Amino acid sequence: MQNLLLNLNEEQLAAVTLPAQSALILAGAGSGKTRVLTTRIAWLIQTGQVSPSGILAVTFTNKAAKEMTARLSGMLPINTRGMWIGTFHGLCNRLLRAHHKDAGLPQTFQILDTQDQLSAIKRLLKQMNVDDEKYPPRNLMYFINSAKDQGLRAKDVDAYDDYNRKFVELYELYDQQCQREGVVDFAELLLRTYELLSRNQPLREHYQSRFRHILVDEFQDTNDLQYKWLKLMAGQHNAVFAVGDDDQSIYAFRGANVGNMQAFEQEFHVQNLIKLEQNYRSHGHILDTANELIANNSKRLGKNLRTDAGHGEQVRVYEATSDLQEAQWIIEQVKDLIAEGWARSEIAILYRSNAQSRVLEHALFSSAIPYRVYGGQRFFERAEIKHAIAYLQLMDNLHNDSAFLRVVNFPTRGIGAKAMESLQDAARQYGCSLYAAVPYVAGKAGSSLNAFVKLIEGARFETQHLPLPEMVKVVLDLSGLMTHYRNEKEGADRIENLEQLVSAATLFVSEEGYGLDAPAFLGPQAQATAGAAITTADGVEVLDADAPLVTIMSPLSAFLSHASLEAGDNQAQAGQDALQLMTVHSAKGLEFDAVFITGMEEGLFPHENSAKEEGGVEEERRLMYVAITRARKRLFMTFSQTRMLHGQTRYNMRSRFFDEMPEQSIKWLSPKIAQHHWFANPKSAWDEVPEAGNNKIAQSFSRQTDSGWRIGQNVSHAKFGEGVIVNIEGGGGAARAQINFGKFGMKLLDLSVAKLEKI
Ligand code: ATP
Ligand code: MG
Repeated sequence: MQNLLLNLNEEQLAAVTLPAQSALILAGAGSGKTRVLTTRIAWLIQTGQVSPSGILAVTFTNKAAKEMTARLSGMLPINTRGMWIGTFHGLCNRLLRAHHKDAGLPQTFQILDTQDQLSAIKRLLKQMNVDDEKYPPRNLMYFINSAKDQGLRAKDVDAYDDYNRKFVELYELYDQQCQREGVVDFAELLLRTYELLSRNQPLREHYQSRFRHILVDEFQDTNDLQYKWLKLMAGQHNAVFAVGDDDQSIYAFRGANVGNMQAFEQEFHVQNLIKLEQNYRSHGHILDTANELIANNSKRLGKNLRTDAGHGEQVRVYEATSDLQEAQWIIEQVKDLIAEGWARSEIAILYRSNAQSRVLEHALFSSAIPYRVYGGQRFFERAEIKHAIAYLQLMDNLHNDSAFLRVVNFPTRGIGAKAMESLQDAARQYGCSLYAAVPYVAGKAGSSLNAFVKLIEGARFETQHLPLPEMVKVVLDLSGLMTHYRNEKEGADRIENLEQLVSAATLFVSEEGYGLDAPAFLGPQAQATAGAAITTADGVEVLDADAPLVTIMSPLSAFLSHASLEAGDNQAQAGQDALQLMTVHSAKGLEFDAVFITGMEEGLFPHENSAKEEGGVEEERRLMYVAITRARKRLFMTFSQTRMLHGQTRYNMRSRFFDEMPEQSIKWLSPKIAQHHWFANPKSAWDEVPEAGNNKIAQSFSRQTDSGWRIGQNVSHAKFGEGVIVNIEGGGGAARAQINFGKFGMKLLDLSVAKLEKI
């Protein structure tokens, strides 16, 4: 038997082997939290305290769940396939599939990703004749999701004025629309599960008596509903083992509530609070930089990190003149690293905003370095993939109106706006889905719609016995998508992506353990009742504890869930040794030998939006802490004087975070700009200057004026510190300059009066 406890330090060992009570492991980045959590699962199973089916483990991403499962397989000779390890969304999806009837959902309910949700909302507004300028769809989406994240249905929301009341009313209508169409959004997955278990006592007790051990990674980023969900699952007797780091709470904007950590300690009567203080990931200078930076935050639970790894190298900082040059410089460094023998997959380039990746990608593409972007446009969000998926969705659930609308006339088959209007009228009149309303439409419109119905029915018939990958292939042809893109001028990439969808389906069925020739969508219903359901003593039908996922969902349903829930990175590139590109948010929990943090500028990192929110800068600082602590051995930070972002050139100041890092740990590769003396003032001036952080656009580059000042010139001012000239108006003695003073915001100063110094 493998000794699981060999490579643990004292505190880690204590954490792994805690008695079966709720516990909180509070520790900084790289201290082994995830490792402790995984080892504890293995140890609990190995020592016979629980069977694999008695474990419920929640991870933050699907990728993390996969890694955890793979680690467990390496530690123990068990089949991990049926284990309940996943994200909140993934686990809820599984539960709802198993109990779809009790949850009031069709077995083939489908999951709306954010894009789908937004279009469903737009459609609703249109149908209700709601002015979408007055009630912007995005705001409504945000309203609905944050209500759901707090566990509130429309009827539970207290409206405080007429405007708000309208939102509540639309929330209710949106829920009705989803129910009619058999679709659920992300937040709904959780809320529906929560409601199901609160209401259904036998079911709740069944799960409570099964999941004796509940383990949660990245606990600091749970939202209110997730916390309530955990409480429900835990009941009175189960042990919740939560690991987290308050300094890495970076999802407040999505409703995460770091206060859950304190609440957890009290409400779960935590006897065991363990802190891990040894960092195993990063070299000394990197760790010192992270520690000193995060010490500037006021609301912290408090903990330290140390390392035995030695100082290692200093953090390298580079100032570029433009974003293009920044990208160029990074690529030179990457080439050097590769030449020195560093693996490409061990080098990551991180950025604050997705928009920054374009320039980097462009430069990488030209230099022929293989790279992989995470969390950019998801593979499953590409238009052609969305179309293909919509055909599959419609075949699986004829009442999914979103899917219907997406493809009814794509590729074009002569179904015009008028035909659609009659169809929508009919659907409203008969209270049915668009698909079901087709027979009610007469005339030419009716016959073209009917041809579409025939197409879908034909596709269902032809593919009924086919395994998933073949089904996908047939649907791509029958739908006319392949022909459509073949005839399109720039269609080659899209064809390639569609072909990749077939590979993705192949990979999916083999990874999930479906038989390679299991029919994609007819066999499974039979399978579902045969394999998964058992009846408890009280006569409730519940899921068999060890039933693997394959017995609950048909390959097609499972694949469609996967398409909505997975990051769906370009699958074909998986496995290749490629450079890693991602936002800081999506780097959470990961580690790399070398890390580049790019765009370290005021307004970008910290992001300008953070100035508007209470605690915003502290959240940005935590995000920076996450970024720094991803690096094992070598860390680079870059910033640029100018940057094209959203079609505008911005002149930026370097990030205030540089002034919060230990000087001895930093190596300036470009001459360091004079100290900003005002950075010493810890109070953020952003809060006082209304236009602060709003980087105005300059009209032209480096326009020299007769006064000797030029746009782009770095200047220093007695009161506002260092800034950069972004525009000059007038001339001679009347010349005035618009200057971006970073924290002090934009100022318009009279050049003949203001005592400015060039730097
Ligand atoms: P994060 O906060 O970033 O999620 P974490 O606390 O979850 O970090 P892990 O990812 O579990 O940290 O561990 C960081 C690294 O340190 C991993 O490579 C892990 O294998 C290694 N590690 C953890 N504990 C030990 C140990 N006792 N001995 C050697 N290596 C360790
Ligand atoms: Mg971790």
